[in-house]
Amino acid sequence: MSKRPIVIIGTGISALAIINFISKEQPLIIISKSDRGNSWLAQGGVAGAFGKRDSVSSHVKDTMNAGCHHGDIQAITMLAEEGVSSIQSLIDEGMIFDCDNQGELLLGREGAHSSRRILHAGGDQTGKKIMSFLTKRVSSNVTRRSDETLIDVRIENGACTGVFTKDRDGRVKTYEAEAVVFATGGCGGLFPYTSNSEGITGDGFAVAYRAGAALSDMEFLQFHPTMCVHEDQSVGLLSEAVRGEGATVINQDGDSVMDGVHPLGDLAPRDIVARTIYERMMQGEELYLDARNVQQFAERFPSIEDMRRRESLSLGMLPIRPAAHFMMGGVKTDLYGRTTVPGLYAVGEVARTGVHGANRLASNSLLEALVFARRTAHALMNDPKTSRVAITPKTVHPTFCSEKLPTRSELREMVEKHIGIIRDRKSLRSFVDWLKPVAEAYIHLEDRSGLSLDQLERSNMAIVSYLIACSAYERKESRGAHYRSDFPKSSRSWEQVEITQSMKQAAML
Ligand SMILES: Cc1cc2nc3c(=O)[nH]c(=O)nc-3n(C[C@H](O)[C@H](O)[C@H](O)COP(=O)(O)OP(=O)(O)OC[C@H]3O[C@@H](n4cnc5c(N)ncnc54)[C@H](O)[C@@H]3O)c2cc1C
Repeated sequence: MSKRPIVIIGTGISALAIINFISKEQPLIIISKSDRGNSWLAQGGVAGAFGKRDSVSSHVKDTMNAGCHHGDIQAITMLAEEGVSSIQSLIDEGMIFDCDNQGELLLGREGAHSSRRILHAGGDQTGKKIMSFLTKRVSSNVTRRSDETLIDVRIENGACTGVFTKDRDGRVKTYEAEAVVFATGGCGGLFPYTSNSEGITGDGFAVAYRAGAALSDMEFLQFHPTMCVHEDQSVGLLSEAVRGEGATVINQDGDSVMDGVHPLGDLAPRDIVARTIYERMMQGEELYLDARNVQQFAERFPSIEDMRRRESLSLGMLPIRPAAHFMMGGVKTDLYGRTTVPGLYAVGEVARTGVHGANRLASNSLLEALVFARRTAHALMNDPKTSRVAITPKTVHPTFCSEKLPTRSELREMVEKHIGIIRDRKSLRSFVDWLKPVAEAYIHLEDRSGLSLDQLERSNMAIVSYLIACSAYERKESRGAHYRSDFPKSSRSWEQVEITQSMKQAAML
């Protein structure tokens, strides 16, 4: 019997980084619905304690503090320690980060970091540079299938043994797998304003949940404070690194918005800056980023400068609003990417490893992908294999579900209103009551192969929004990115309490 492949869903940094660590003897198939995930967009950089006056323990402390002490100290310590060696390996393999004339790494500063520790490449094109670098290293044992959407995983005898996908022409395909890895990214696409790529709609969370995997911390969704929105369209992210180099948030009168709000001012943790901006917006103010103080703006932030010129925006008045950015929660994994379903692994933004707590520290996401890709690859090569049951090819079944899926714009409008930056019991309850019949129907729909690609995506969006709302309803406190106006303070009794949802152990309302 020939060796079965490992199937990876996604082609972002976490997927490509795993490939780098898998033996060339192992057949690999990587499948994605699009090659343009969030990894290509990452601007600020990747965090690592490389500075002369920096230390791993200081990185751990900043990560723990930014995450409002909800993070897992063991996972965070490992992230900061192994992060340095993971980045160093990338450099040793030939990845070029920005350096000064003496060849020393240029380290940037971002919100809630106590030191300069952000490595960047091409100024503000770190994601693009790392992705181009990793793409060139994809070897011949890898088969790529672009333009195919994951429908569901195959579970046999309690283990994941393959996946079903659908291509653009509606053909359903079946892949047998030694193991399946989800590297499907986050869910910013649930919201009308997002920094995320088109198509990042939380599919991995929904499919994993349907397969019986446990999800945790789904109430912790980060909003980036400074999305540039022009004529009501999101036109590009203004990286936190811009504030790190001296830009400030101002209102229409030119007054500073963050003065007196937090000791770190414009570099306060993201949740605080995002909420402050949102509250000002709700009072009718217009908010801007004033980047005139930033030295050599065009050289340091070439992509943002291109966007600024394209949109004819003034450097002193870049229009901003918060936008859905990053999911801290996700498919619960151990420190080797193993989910609660044997044979199913998760890495990158889709995984809940415990490193981000209630609020991700800037530039820790690319780092998480690099560190956990190495660990997940180790597990993939060494874990006992799932039972070799031959998988039967999928035939398309006409799918009937009496519940009508909301349109994208209906769902996004409701998501923004009820599970956005500021939440409360009544609003969450009404959202859950509205969505529950649809979400439950699609959670339990046995066979989704008859759904169109659009219906598949919308059913995933409905399931994920519902899971976020249930978790947010359950957590009766405010912590990090989860803010409840009816419980505006953090509570000791909720410290380190993780809300886990699975088909077996539901936190459903
Ligand atoms: C604008 C922006 C700037 C950022 N800047 C930074 C930064 O400076 N530093 C930092 O650390 N982090 C940053 N982040 C966060 C970081 O970029 C992401 O968290 C990270 O890149 C996620 O990588 P990933 O591999 O998990 O997912 P992604 O890169 O998002 O890739 C997901 C992949 O899964 C595929 N996929 C999804 N669903 C399906 C499906 N149903 N079927 C098939 N394929 C599917 C997608 O097509 C895609 O290929 C930024 C994010 C954004 C949006």
